[in-house]
Amino acid sequence: MPSEFQLIARYFTRPARRAVLGVGDDAALFRVGKEMELAVSTDMLVSGTHFVADADPRRLGHKTLAVNLSDMAAMGARPRWALLALALPEAEPAWLRAFAAGFLALADAHDVELVGGDTTRGPLNLCVTIFGEVPRGRALRRDRARVGDDVWVSGELGNAALALANQQGRVRLPAAVAARCLRSLDLPQPRVALGLGLRGLANAAIDISDGLAADLGHICERSCLGADVWLGQIPCSKALAKLVDRSVAEQALVAGGDDYELCFTAAVKRRAQIEALGARIGLPVHRIGAMRKGRGVRLLDPDGRVYDHQIRGFDHFG
Ligand code: ADP
Ligand code: MG
Repeated sequence: MPSEFQLIARYFTRPARRAVLGVGDDAALFRVGKEMELAVSTDMLVSGTHFVADADPRRLGHKTLAVNLSDMAAMGARPRWALLALALPEAEPAWLRAFAAGFLALADAHDVELVGGDTTRGPLNLCVTIFGEVPRGRALRRDRARVGDDVWVSGELGNAALALANQQGRVRLPAAVAARCLRSLDLPQPRVALGLGLRGLANAAIDISDGLAADLGHICERSCLGADVWLGQIPCSKALAKLVDRSVAEQALVAGGDDYELCFTAAVKRRAQIEALGARIGLPVHRIGAMRKGRGVRLLDPDGRVYDHQIRGFDHFG
């Protein structure tokens, strides 16, 4: 079975004509007036694929918008407007009230206007199209990384994957730790302030939705470069660091999706400014590797040896 990305490449990828940037980044870009570009992206959550049917509706409302805001963050765009398309098996008032409350609270927190959408009966499916603004030429794209750039990530990785592993019975976490990890999975905090601050500092960026190795792999592919990542430098929670099962821990860290942190590359001379930005917005940022000539993501163990891994990111079809 071809991967999700092979499917997109084979059937749906055509060169952009009037768009500044088409298929292949976290959002498309369109010129609007002399100074601005519009960043547009869409992401859907499907019952049974992205969440269980009885998931908490308020959290689901939050996450439906959060995953879309995350793509704006990855572009360095300021999110402005959203469309919401819903397929619902039934019109259940308590569910709808809670879903709307979760969605709109996050929209208000980011000053995003819900300006339209579509509502229809069908298997539960939640789809947002989001629009954001970015000054012309200043968007953070996947294809602008340079050789020698540092590779950075924000926050901690692996907590959402750990929550999933716990739900699926692959690990057993203490209740308090499980609840904390579950918040990472259910209530991701889109890194919009970081994306905005990285304009002019970062060369390339992506949000981590499919796992670090896969998503950094997209930066590599689009920038025609490779990346070296020091496994020991990837920031993780105490719970993950203490996990006895190292293979689950490493899998969560390197291939766990749903963290919605940003991975970005920047010139070495930007280190101090990036550290200062992280301190200013209260979000730790970590240098985890470097861009190099070549292809693909190489994981290095603490001795600098290439780590032999069978770790893959999330792929809906592969
Ligand atoms: P992200 O994880 O940032 O939302 P995806 O991995 O879903 O991005 O998609 C990769 C790229 O392919 C994006 O630029 C997206 O807009 C594009 N894409 C995905 N599905 C389709 C499709 N059916 N038709 C055209 N473009 C698509
Ligand atoms: Mg993305």
